[in-house]
Amino acid sequence: MNFQQYTNFTIGWMLLAVMIFILLLFIAAPYGRHTKTTWGLLIDNRLGWIIMEIFVVVVFSFCVYRRNKQSIVNYIIFSFFTFHYLNRSLIFPFRLRTSGKKMPVLIMLMGMTFNLVNGFLIGYYLGNFRVYELSWLTGAPFIIGTLIFITGIVINWQSDTILINLRKPGETGYKIPQGGMFRYVSSPNLLGESIEWCGFAILTWSLPGLAFLVWTMANLIPRAISHHKWYRQHFADYPTERKAVIPFLL
Ligand code: NDP
Repeated sequence: MNFQQYTNFTIGWMLLAVMIFILLLFIAAPYGRHTKTTWGLLIDNRLGWIIMEIFVVVVFSFCVYRRNKQSIVNYIIFSFFTFHYLNRSLIFPFRLRTSGKKMPVLIMLMGMTFNLVNGFLIGYYLGNFRVYELSWLTGAPFIIGTLIFITGIVINWQSDTILINLRKPGETGYKIPQGGMFRYVSSPNLLGESIEWCGFAILTWSLPGLAFLVWTMANLIPRAISHHKWYRQHFADYPTERKAVIPFLL
C-alpha cells in the first residue's frame, strides 16, 4: 500500500467512526450493564476481553518489526502503545470482578476489528512511512502529548480501580462510585481513556494517531452518556451535579 492509498483508507476509516458514533447515541453497545441476550452467542466476559484485546499487540508488533529502518523514537512510541494493550489484554481482565457474566461474541468480534485495524494503521505507519528523528523527543508535540497520555492513563487506571473495588469478591451488582474524578463525571475511566489517546495523537502528530482518538471517542462518549442515564434511572440518590463524561459540560 502506498502513502496515498494508506491516507485514503485512514480517512474512510475515520468517517466510519463518525457514523458509528451517531449509531451508538441511539443503541448502547450491549456489554457490561447494557448486555443483551438478543445479540446471539455469548462468551465469558473475561475471556471475551482477552481475545478482543490481545491480537492487536501481535499485529502492531508485526507491522513495526517488519521493516529494519526504525529509530529509537519509533520504539518508544511502540512501547507506549504496547504498554497500554498489555495491560488491557492480560492484566485488566484478571482484575475484573465479573464472575458468571457474559458478553455477545458479536461485540467481541467488533471490538477485535476496531483494535486490529487501528493497531495495523499505527504499526504500518511506524513501520513504513515515518522514522522519527531523535530531536522529536525534545519537541513540543512529544512532550505535551506524553504528559497528556500519562494523565489519561492515571485517570483511567484510578477510575477503573475504584469501579472494580466497588464489588466484593463474588458480587456482580452495581453501586454509586465515589471519589477521584467520580466527583465530576459518571465515567472518568472512559474520559481518562479518551485523554490518553488524545495524548497519543499529539505525541505522534500523525493521521493514524488521530484515527485512533476519533474511534475511541466514537465508542466511549456515547457509552458514558448511556451509563449516566442508567445511573440516574437506577439510583434515586445519584449525585445531581455529576456530569456524564466531561466535567461541568456533558
Ligand atoms: P465500564 O465502566 O462499563 O466497566 C468497567 C468495570 O467496572 C466492569 O467490570 C464493570 O462491571 C464494573 N463497574 C462499572 N460500574 C460499576 C458500578 N457502578 N458498580 C460496580 N461495578 C461497576 O467500562 P467498560 O467495560 O466499557 O470499559 C473497560 C475499560 O476498557 C475502560 O478503561 C475503557 O476505557 C476501556 N475501553 C476502551 C475502548 C476504546 O475504544 N479505546 C472501548 C471500550 C472500553 P460490568 O462489566 O459487570 O458492568
